[in-house]
Amino acid sequence: MTQPDLLARSLAAVWHPCTQMKRHEMLPLVPITRGEGVWLHGQDGERYLDAVSSWWVNLFGHGAPRIRQAIKDQLDTLEHVMLAGFTHEPVVRLSERLAALSGLGHAFYGSDGASATEIALKMAAHYWKNRGHAGKHRYVYLEGSYHGETVGALAVTDVPVFRSAYAELIGQHFCAPSPDARRAANGESAEQVALRAAAALETLLASHHGEIAAFILEPLVQGASGMVMYHPCYLAEARRLCSQYQVLLIADEIAVGFGRTGSMFAYQQAGITPDLLCLSKGITGGFLPLAAVLCSDDIYAAFYHDDVSRGFLHSHSYTGNPLACAAANAVLDQFEADDVLTSNRDKAQRWHALFMPLAQHPQVQHFRRCGMIWAFEVQDAGNGFALRLFQAALARGILLRPIGNTVYFMPPYVLGDNEANFLSEQTLAALNAALATEAEPVDVPLA
Ligand SMILES: *Cc1c(COP(=O)(O)O)cnc(C)c1O
Repeated sequence: MTQPDLLARSLAAVWHPCTQMKRHEMLPLVPITRGEGVWLHGQDGERYLDAVSSWWVNLFGHGAPRIRQAIKDQLDTLEHVMLAGFTHEPVVRLSERLAALSGLGHAFYGSDGASATEIALKMAAHYWKNRGHAGKHRYVYLEGSYHGETVGALAVTDVPVFRSAYAELIGQHFCAPSPDARRAANGESAEQVALRAAAALETLLASHHGEIAAFILEPLVQGASGMVMYHPCYLAEARRLCSQYQVLLIADEIAVGFGRTGSMFAYQQAGITPDLLCLSKGITGGFLPLAAVLCSDDIYAAFYHDDVSRGFLHSHSYTGNPLACAAANAVLDQFEADDVLTSNRDKAQRWHALFMPLAQHPQVQHFRRCGMIWAFEVQDAGNGFALRLFQAALARGILLRPIGNTVYFMPPYVLGDNEANFLSEQTLAALNAALATEAEPVDVPLA
């Protein structure tokens, strides 16, 4: 089959996500036939370095042999069984391992990130109802937060492009100021900014804790609103205040979990434990959809009762799918076998040095890193910059997906030093090319 055929068929039959489909009258879809390591291969021999781990899921690149093999092995014995009333070894093993890693002993499964958010939000409010506080059913979320795009998750997501069209559907909750380190003014430190945001959180909790079930946040890095990074002391303060005001703390580590920020889970860098933990994206290394919500013994105990209605009667058809759990177990095997956290630390140092020419570009601002995430803003970039840079990078063999004027790398951990160098050089060339092309008359976000 020829490429134009496939593109036309895709445009006729597939409604692509996060896209104004009319854009594709001008912007060609990119057909991919094969993935290997950090590379995605197209139909005519071209290849693209996947600098965003395909929306942050492919932790070990494409076709990771250990994960691929684990799925094949699982396929020979049990592809699926409903998890209500039944159980199986891969889900038990995964739950035990996630409990040991997180300090949260009970795992509830969903199919993708947004379903994990829904589960955590429902569990938090139901927890308080079971404890006799039915009035606690609202949430606090952070300015610039992203927790997914189903109707419940959107209500705690503060990204207007995703939210505005659905304003009438969305519940009203409380938005707390962001601890964004870039807000440091007049010689303030990142820590001072975080403490200032925590003080505002305290004011909010002090007056409304009677109606608040939980505070949901993305630990250390707010991904979708532009890789916003903040000081870990905010997490310590959030933990302290949530305990003081009887509000559950939900850590959404869908993007930052599994080593992305340098520790297995980002909240560990603040020496805290949340009450609920949402995981997805990298959990299967990009092979299969899976999400998990982990909770404390105290939350689990509040649902354990003779009364059926006090139970958590939530389910998704593919809950705890054995193939997905086998993939997730293989991801954890890889962390152990290759001591990924330690080797990532060394890699990140080396790559950071290679990326310095980008940091020194005259239009680049706020060049920053947290673990295996790099980000920077481009000043005076003009309208439609995200799309122009996306195209300029693609033409140079790099898959980037800027968020507005924020450019970021979230590379697979298996990136080699030569590939990191290629990424740095080609991103710099693409940046200069995108800045040299004419801005659009109106701003076109890539989203
Ligand atoms: C991606 C993401 C989600 C939503 O996950 P989906 O699988 O896209 O539904 C939720 N929270 C965070 C922090 C995310 O990055």
